[in-house]
Amino acid sequence: MTDDLIARATALDAADPLAVYREQFLAPDGFDVVAYLDGNSLGRPLKATAALMETFIRESWGGRLIRGWTDEWMEWPLRLGDRLGRVAIGAAGGQTVIADSTTVLIYKLARAAVAARPGRDRIVLDTDNFPTDRYVLEGIAAERGLELVWIETDPDTGIHPGQVAEVVDERTALVLFSHVAYRSGWLADVPEITRIAHDAGALAMWDLCHSVGSVPVELDRWDVDLAVGCTYKYLNGGPGAPAFAYAKKDLLPGLRQPIQGWMGHRASFEMGPGYEPAEGSRALISGTPPILAMVPLHANLDMLESAGIGAVREKSLLLTGYALDIADELLAPFDVEVVSPRDPRRRGGHLTLRKPGFEKLLDPLWDAGVIPDYRRPDGLRIGPAPLSTSFGEVYRGLSVLRSLLEK
Ligand SMILES: *Cc1c(COP(=O)(O)O)cnc(C)c1O
Repeated sequence: MTDDLIARATALDAADPLAVYREQFLAPDGFDVVAYLDGNSLGRPLKATAALMETFIRESWGGRLIRGWTDEWMEWPLRLGDRLGRVAIGAAGGQTVIADSTTVLIYKLARAAVAARPGRDRIVLDTDNFPTDRYVLEGIAAERGLELVWIETDPDTGIHPGQVAEVVDERTALVLFSHVAYRSGWLADVPEITRIAHDAGALAMWDLCHSVGSVPVELDRWDVDLAVGCTYKYLNGGPGAPAFAYAKKDLLPGLRQPIQGWMGHRASFEMGPGYEPAEGSRALISGTPPILAMVPLHANLDMLESAGIGAVREKSLLLTGYALDIADELLAPFDVEVVSPRDPRRRGGHLTLRKPGFEKLLDPLWDAGVIPDYRRPDGLRIGPAPLSTSFGEVYRGLSVLRSLLEK
C-alpha cells in the first residue's frame, strides 16, 4: 500500500510538466524543510525575487532616487494590476490596481458599493467567510446604519447558489463571499451566485485570496462587479505584499471609495484644494503605494504567465487528489477525517484534515520540518502550491504525520 503510494509520487513527479519551476524557488543554505504544505498561507520566495530586490535597491531606489516616481513608480499600481488582471484573474486592462492590504481594500470597495446602491440597506455575507471580511462588513454596517444578512454555511463545504437566492431582494446592496473557502477549500460557483445577486439588483464582490494563482478566475466573463485578493499566498509576493482590487469598467465612473487620498486624485502633483477622483482605476488608490513590496510581483507574474494558470490548476487537482488518497489509506485508520470537497469541480487548492487534538501535533510536525497550517477547531490544512511542491514532498509530509499519529 505504502509502496504503491510512493511509486505513484515518483510517476507523477516524472510526468509533471511544471516540475522545472521547483528549482526556481529559493532554498537557502541550511534549509530544513522536508515538506512545505502551506502555500495557501505564505508562498515561497523565488531566486529571481532576491536578485530583483537587490537590483531595485541598488539601481532604481539608490540610483534614481526621487526620479523613480516619474520614471515609472507612479504607474506600477496600474501596470502591475493590469498584468495580474491578464495573467491571473481574467480581467481586461484598466480595472485592476495593486494597493494597500486585502482588509483595507474590502473596506474601500464595500463602502463604495453600498454608496452606489442608494436606498438599499442590506449586505449579504456568510458565517464561514474569512474573519477580516466579516469584521470589516460589521464595521461598515455600524457606520452606515446597514443590516447584515448572514447565511449559515456548512464549514465543511461552503456557500451554495440556492442559499443566496433565498435571501437577496430589493433591499440588498451588496453580497460578499470567498471564491475558495479558507477552511474547507470549497470552490464557490461565482458566475451563478453573481447572476443571482444581479437579478436582485445587488452588486457582487468576491474575495479571491485563496484562489488567485491556484484556480482559474474569469472576472470579466463572469460579470463580477468587484473583487479583492492578496499576493502573498499562491502568488509568492512575500509577507505583507500589497493586495489587488478589481472594479468592473462600467462601474468605475460611479464608484466613490471612501479613502480619498492624493494618489487617487485626478492630478496628484497639482496639490489642489479639493478631492477630485482620477478617471478609471487610479481612483481606487489612496496614498503612496508600497513600491518596494511590489518588486517581487514582477518575478511571480513572469512565472505564472510562463507556466499558465490552466496547467497550475491541473497540477493542483492532481496534488490534492493524491493527498486525498494518502489521507484515505494512511490517515483514515487513525480517525482522520477529510473535510474538503472530494469533487474536483468544487475543490480549491487545499485540503483540510480533521481530528480532535491535531493542535498538539503542530509543534512536532514543525520540528520534523513538515509545515502545514492549523485552523481552529482541529483542522490541519494541506496547501501544496503547484509551482513549488512535488508529489514526493506531499508523500513525505503526510507520512511524517502518520508516524506521529502512530505514537
Ligand atoms: C488571507 C486572506 C485575507 C487576508 O487579508 P489581509 O488584509 O492580507 O490580512 C483575507 N481574506 C481571505 C479569504 C484570506 O484568505
